[in-house]
Amino acid sequence: NKKFKVTVVGSGNWGSVAAKLIGSNTLKLSSFHDEVRMWVFEETLPSGEKLTDVINRDNENVKYLPGIKLGRNVVADPDLVNAVKDANMLVFVTPHQFMEGICRRLVGKVRSDAEAISLIKGMEVKMEGPCMISSLISELLGINCCVLMGANIANEIAKEMFSEATVGYREHREVAERWVNLFSTTYFIVSPVQDVEGVELCGTLKNVVALAAGFVDGLDMGNNTKAAIMRIGLREMRVFSKLMFSSVKDNTFFESCGVADLITTCLGGRNRKVAEAFARNGGKRSFDELEAEMLQGQKLQGVSTAKEVYEVLSKRGWQELFPLFTTVHEITIGHLPPSAIVEHSEHT
Ligand code: NAD
Ligand code: 13P
Repeated sequence: NKKFKVTVVGSGNWGSVAAKLIGSNTLKLSSFHDEVRMWVFEETLPSGEKLTDVINRDNENVKYLPGIKLGRNVVADPDLVNAVKDANMLVFVTPHQFMEGICRRLVGKVRSDAEAISLIKGMEVKMEGPCMISSLISELLGINCCVLMGANIANEIAKEMFSEATVGYREHREVAERWVNLFSTTYFIVSPVQDVEGVELCGTLKNVVALAAGFVDGLDMGNNTKAAIMRIGLREMRVFSKLMFSSVKDNTFFESCGVADLITTCLGGRNRKVAEAFARNGGKRSFDELEAEMLQGQKLQGVSTAKEVYEVLSKRGWQELFPLFTTVHEITIGHLPPSAIVEHSEHT
């Protein structure tokens, strides 16, 4: 009765931790096949070896999650179509900018009875308006897609430190429960909420606020200032989400995906870290340059999300309603100095 076969599409820092978590559970839960396939965007390491060969030999993603064993049942596969072909549970976890291309390659290649979940924080902006990544997956692949977001710095979960997460679902509670079972461990507590857009927008928008928190750190402005920026940011997250989708629930902002993720990302995330360096350099070194130097192949989501949010705001003439979101974008593109984060973000 092993009915469910899981593939993880993505193998970066969080993707590798997700595969480890899932792999530990598929070994224990009778309704899942033991093997978890993980699609790897293939690359050659400085040693000349292929990343997938090293993962399959050492059970470790030496580039994106060094020092952590993934489990022998996690199998790295460089062939995207082969990796998904047998799976009826698909976990998407790549940097958001690559997802449209990945989905286009998967059209007609996934099982029609597959269920998906997105762990991806970000969105795309189309002519018609913003498109959340879960909608992109649903629309291009013709399958239902839940989301999982939360206060989940990957390196901490890799070390099995306690944390929580939120699964957002649209209508089928039993599908959400299946995802909860697949991810839950004693140190990773997952709760379902019926608000897919609210959960996904929390995860997406907090990356913009994290850049603002990083600017504050880079300017040595202190804890009160950072708390103020987080409060203003949370308020803009809620107003923006509700303007986009009237179905978004207030309670969602009190789940792990909301205020808890905002706090952890503003304290310890990569967006915060690189934004701090940007501000310390007076905005003279670009985010692209700092990202490449500081993150060694890992990707920031906040800078492109700030641009995507700004596109939505400017198309609708809403910039004045969102001074923090607007200012973060203008700082990242060099139109304003990092200090503008407090000068321009005053809010009620
Ligand atoms: P990451 O930041 O480690 O990104 C690196 C990954 O991108 C690697 O697997 C690399 O192979 C891949 N990549 C590079 N170029 C590519 C291309 N052209 N096409 C496809 N893939 C390519 O990735 P991550 O940390 O796993 O993040 C994935 C998503 O999860 C993001 O939306 C992120 O916001 C979210 N997330 C991350 C964390 C975290 O702590 N890392 C926590 C929660 C959520
Ligand atoms: P960063 O991408 O800024 O590291 O945030 C990680 C995260 O989403 C934690 O939940």
